[in-house]
Amino acid sequence: MAGSDFSSSFDRVLALHGVGPLERGVPRTLQVNVGKLCNQACHHCHVDAGPKRTEVMTRETADAVIALLARSLSIDTLDITGGAPELNANFRMLVERGREMGRRVMVRCNLTVMLEDGMGWLADFYRRNRVELICSLPCYSADNVDLQRGKGVFAKSIAALRMLNDAGYGCGELQLALVYNPVSPMLAPAQHELEQRYREELSTQFGISFDRLLTINNMPIARFAHQLSRAGRHAEYMGLLVNHFNAATVPGLMCRTLVSVGWEGGLYDCDFNQMLSIPLRIEGRARTIFDLNDLGELAGARIETASHCFGCTAGAGSSCAGAIV
Ligand code: SF4
Ligand code: SF4
Repeated sequence: MAGSDFSSSFDRVLALHGVGPLERGVPRTLQVNVGKLCNQACHHCHVDAGPKRTEVMTRETADAVIALLARSLSIDTLDITGGAPELNANFRMLVERGREMGRRVMVRCNLTVMLEDGMGWLADFYRRNRVELICSLPCYSADNVDLQRGKGVFAKSIAALRMLNDAGYGCGELQLALVYNPVSPMLAPAQHELEQRYREELSTQFGISFDRLLTINNMPIARFAHQLSRAGRHAEYMGLLVNHFNAATVPGLMCRTLVSVGWEGGLYDCDFNQMLSIPLRIEGRARTIFDLNDLGELAGARIETASHCFGCTAGAGSSCAGAIV
């Protein structure tokens, strides 16, 4: 398939395999992206996040998110992401209200934020609120991590992981998952085998333990897409994703049970659609948290797709929870 033909081909491939069109089931997870502010600026970032970004969720919007969550009884998980979500002024409120409502609260933490000035409270805050942590660590080697995420990031990540182990994370008490994504334009390897390798390396070299490894594919959008284009490898990577389409991943795609909210309150089918400004639509109209009474109303709604969706269905599949099959 030529590079220019990738757009809009995802739905045709779903139809060819008898697994389309994509429709949402009952929403179970509300993923809140509180904005693009981050203490890092990684090469593969699909959010284009960084220390100079000013797009952040306001208190008014964060309050509206919590009000919608309270009304949406099908949602059992609040998943908070960014940027570095901990840098948002409303972060603590979101976590605490979510827990008070009895919801499972997950935070996508980049680890290094724990070592930023004024962030020494984080490990204890996570522990007290029994937050489940999903932490980026794309390799157990310093060179690979620093190449992708910036000089010195690996050493800081290891220091943060030690703090989390000391707080009770990754030792069977509080959940600590690590996230691997490929450093080069290739698919993620088998999750279980890589998890074993991570376990051995992190334990023997650094005495660190964790609960699960999640492997994800790099999505061909934002900073990673620009990097591919600069290297003249965009069409090659898209070809890899398309050629490894796996119909068995489709029932487990995260967009079937997740709803994504942007920093301005817009609703999306997933964080990737959010970054591409592809809104969630009902009867042709883009929806926000301000005009929906209950996220359960989105059950059965058609999911917006485009060529980047091949990143979720390639190989063992890829989602916020790692490999799908
Ligand atoms: S990948 Fe994560 S840590 Fe890196 S810049 Fe993006 S949001 Fe920040
Ligand atoms: S990018 Fe993945 S999660 Fe998002 S709509 Fe496409 S298939 Fe679903």
